[in-house]
Amino acid sequence: MPSIELDPNLSRYSQRTRGMKASEIRALFAVATRPEIVSLAGGMPYTAALDYAAVDEVTTGVIRDHGPIALQYGSGQGLPALRERLVEVMAAEGVRATGDDLVVTTGGQQALDLIAKLFCDPGDIVLAEGPSYVGALGAFASYEAEVRHVEMDGEGLLPAALEDQLTRLDAEGRRAKFLYTVPNHQNPGGVSLSLERRHEVLAVAQRHDLLVVEDNPYGLLDFKGETRPALRALDPDRVLYVGTLSKIFSPGIRVGWVAAPESIRDKLVQLKEGADLCQSNLTQFIAERWLGTQPWLRQVDEYRRVYRERCEALLTELSAELPAGCSWTDPTGGFFVWLTLPEGLDSGELLAKAISARVAYVPGRGFFADGNGSRHLRLSFCFPQPDEIREGVRRLAEVLHAEVELVRALYGGREQDRGAAGTPLPLHRER
Ligand code: PMP
Repeated sequence: MPSIELDPNLSRYSQRTRGMKASEIRALFAVATRPEIVSLAGGMPYTAALDYAAVDEVTTGVIRDHGPIALQYGSGQGLPALRERLVEVMAAEGVRATGDDLVVTTGGQQALDLIAKLFCDPGDIVLAEGPSYVGALGAFASYEAEVRHVEMDGEGLLPAALEDQLTRLDAEGRRAKFLYTVPNHQNPGGVSLSLERRHEVLAVAQRHDLLVVEDNPYGLLDFKGETRPALRALDPDRVLYVGTLSKIFSPGIRVGWVAAPESIRDKLVQLKEGADLCQSNLTQFIAERWLGTQPWLRQVDEYRRVYRERCEALLTELSAELPAGCSWTDPTGGFFVWLTLPEGLDSGELLAKAISARVAYVPGRGFFADGNGSRHLRLSFCFPQPDEIREGVRRLAEVLHAEVELVRALYGGREQDRGAAGTPLPLHRER
């Protein structure tokens, strides 16, 4: 990739692309996939846990029984039979919808892109948790939206902080286009919005007439199999719901969806047609047959078992190995732990040392639109085996112990002089 100064096409690009920056996670992938490195960086689902005989049966069955249609263009809104199945997936988290309410998209990511395209003019405000999903921040930036973060703690978004942000915007004579939130097993925070807070957040949204975009890839991946009602289940008229099969089946089939009120849905279909005419009919048929003929909830149970075991391996090793002053969230599901470093340490600066020690993570700054996050990092436990996770944590701990020593030697008791200020964090455990 040419550097930005040397890019000969710089003057041709649209204004819009100025807000775009390469994802730190993507940049990391090239290094993190080297075999000698334990990657606690990427959030790849552990698709080796799928029942491949069943996947084989489903895919060959689709070609055998529906080949000419499955290999044809489909409708902009998505395959009706699949939409009916997706309604059943949402019902598992209390959402009542009809197939007609849904638009099938290329994963949840395209849904976020289309939503940003539909609502955001340059300079518009979007509210999002701090930290927030990097892919959503990228989508919002590409339409030049300005993200303002809402603080979280171990129970998710703070309703009072949301109220504060909205009151401040009122005072500025401005209005947020929507709140973007991942209420379950958040990426990257690993925390979930408590039931009480769900009601409070919606009450604040109602008071300020705020639209809510609920992104829910991890809701069914609770380690105990518990579910909390989706925000959409509590207030269907105010909440746009984004779902995906990426974490409960396969990210490779690229099937996501939006559940939206009729007027919004029609606009999304038009935007979807402009983007790619229609979703891959082939993968829609595969998804439909998977959900319709296979015990898909049993597969979700298997994923949950795998991720619970890996999360336990990670948390146990963090407790045993990390230096005093580190703290981290305590996930009850999903893929991620959010780690806070001792004062004076910067996760971005430390990454090169970690890679030299053959372990990778994602520095926290990528999860904030406002430059915050330097004292934090995201650890993923979804892909490596438990033994690899333990080894990865031991390597990370060595780097952190050495850095803590160094900072102490250089700055004595004045670690804060180093200036790596962080945001208040969801603290759950501390050594
Ligand atoms: N939202 C969140 C919070 C995610 O973590 C992800 C995947 N990392 C997505 C959306 C998009 O996933 P997909 O496009 O595969 O559905």
